[in-house]
Amino acid sequence: MNPGIQPYLELEFGDYQTRVLKYALHYATKEWPVVPLHTITPRTNACSCYKQDDCTSPAKHPIPVNGVHAATTKEAVIHEWWRRNPMANIGIATGQGLLVIDIDPRHGGSLDALVTRFGLGETAMVRTGGGGWHLYYAYMGLLKNSTGKLGEGIDVRCANGYVVAPPSLHASGNYYAWANQLDPAPLPANMLAALLALEPKRPALPHIPALDLLPPRKAASPLTPTTATDATQLLAAAKMPPATGQPPKNERTNIPEGQRNGALVGFAGALRGRGATGETIEAALRAINALQCFPPLPDTEVHQIARSASTWERGQYSVEPLLIPQMYPLNVLLETDLPEPQWAIPHFLPAGVTLLAGKPKMGKSWFALALALAIAEGRLAFGKLSVTQGDVLYLGLEDSARRMSDRATKLLQGRPAPANFTWVGQWNLLSAGGLADLEEWLDTHPNTRLVVIDTLAKVRPVSSNNGNGYSDDYSIMTPLKRIAEQYNVAILVIHHLRKSGAPDVMDTISGTTGLTGATDCNMVLDRERGKDEAILHITGRDIEEQELTLYFNSETAQWMLHENKRGTHMSKERRELLTVLERADGPMSPTAISNKLGITSVATRKLLSSMMKDNQIGQAERGLYMLLTDEEEGEN
Ligand SMILES: [Zn+2]
Repeated sequence: MNPGIQPYLELEFGDYQTRVLKYALHYATKEWPVVPLHTITPRTNACSCYKQDDCTSPAKHPIPVNGVHAATTKEAVIHEWWRRNPMANIGIATGQGLLVIDIDPRHGGSLDALVTRFGLGETAMVRTGGGGWHLYYAYMGLLKNSTGKLGEGIDVRCANGYVVAPPSLHASGNYYAWANQLDPAPLPANMLAALLALEPKRPALPHIPALDLLPPRKAASPLTPTTATDATQLLAAAKMPPATGQPPKNERTNIPEGQRNGALVGFAGALRGRGATGETIEAALRAINALQCFPPLPDTEVHQIARSASTWERGQYSVEPLLIPQMYPLNVLLETDLPEPQWAIPHFLPAGVTLLAGKPKMGKSWFALALALAIAEGRLAFGKLSVTQGDVLYLGLEDSARRMSDRATKLLQGRPAPANFTWVGQWNLLSAGGLADLEEWLDTHPNTRLVVIDTLAKVRPVSSNNGNGYSDDYSIMTPLKRIAEQYNVAILVIHHLRKSGAPDVMDTISGTTGLTGATDCNMVLDRERGKDEAILHITGRDIEEQELTLYFNSETAQWMLHENKRGTHMSKERRELLTVLERADGPMSPTAISNKLGITSVATRKLLSSMMKDNQIGQAERGLYMLLTDEEEGEN
């Protein structure tokens, strides 16, 4: 039977939501970390991610930016995730506890063939939405995921992998469902052997065989070590050679110097995670140390590892429930593609929170709109600055749809309007759902580069009037900053200045430093009324302090950047490089420059080539760089 998309309409929405959340929480109680996945939206009958019909993995990919690494067993986080994404599918993280065999008949996979080959007994099984099967097995190790390697149409999900779990909705319109109520059986030995044969051959890694014999965390099992005697039995069960003080013959079980500490700490953690006491841990570590470490660690070190492990508590590292914990084992972290620190506009608008302040009617909205359009379109901003193209969310809360339409039409000068630019006319106060809405938008629009909030006053809670302006300001900027960091996005907040004339222009931003103190970058647009020229003051954490001159062309409503000859619009590195060239006796080679600057030669060559492109330096002959002469300077 193919229920199609119908069940969404038949079920009360509340029913399905309650069911999904209930399942997610249930998996967490089994110590299976879960992560929300995109689903099929009944309205479009496509993936709920921004790619919709173009999504290559509809209803199967994680919503959090760090993907399956965000998976958790924390109830509060799970509640919050499904509160924000009530219809989200459920992913269960595999590896270190679960290994799932995925049989896909559409790629030639067959349950019968697998059963015949391995003589499989019963285990927890899911009927997938695609008409295949998921076989769940208990396995504590980390094997590589594979596709079609164990057999045609048979995939393996283990280290850093995940599977779509019941009652998730498949793109076909079918739901995933449990085929039985069994717990995962231990991974059959013949299947483990077949899987190990698929593992890439690596140089001998320190491996503690006893680790594979530990029962799953929290599961009741006679092997759960609670006493020193049990630990000894555990080791006996691992069929370890007796402690002779000789290095083990098997390379794979030999833990060399430099890896002994890590291996023992990992093993201690695994024991502690299963409730072992300090005494048991120490006994087990001593045995492993004697059997596998060559040469063995001093007893005092083993004792220290055991003592420290015995104090570890489950949940000890918990964070505020509303934050999605981003915890990575270091080995996973180093293998993860992490987002580069991003600039919406290099050396001008960083990812993070930027406050753009100015007196009313200065042209701040024109400025922000032009900048936002440049990013959406991937065009030069203000006629000069190259941008990183991406999606834009523009909260134009002071303007009507009509005014926005007129302004955008004028700025686009006949170019088609970019579809990745979303205008919003109304938004909740940040404290009353606005922040959660923003996160939800960012969850579903991972290509977002810029969010403009025009203006701060429209989303800021009414002042608490307790005279603590600083903490009010700070408390509104801090969550924005967290979101900007988490999603690696630039948030440009527009703020009207009421007063002027303070000696430090940044002091004009607010009566308190609560606003500017919490931001990554601050800009003040300073323009005398009626004049076309304005000064943009910029200060920030990772950005060079700058004063840029901008001209407003009232015909086209465009702000244009005036680049000074060798002036202020230049990064610190560029100015330092110029100083080096100035002080040199003659033209310099990149190597000599890199030595003087104390930066790598790669970075130096990059800097040189971009400065050549910007006509800021010249070449004497191939490979030698020098300052421009006065005649050349400024030509462009
Ligand atoms: Zn998708």
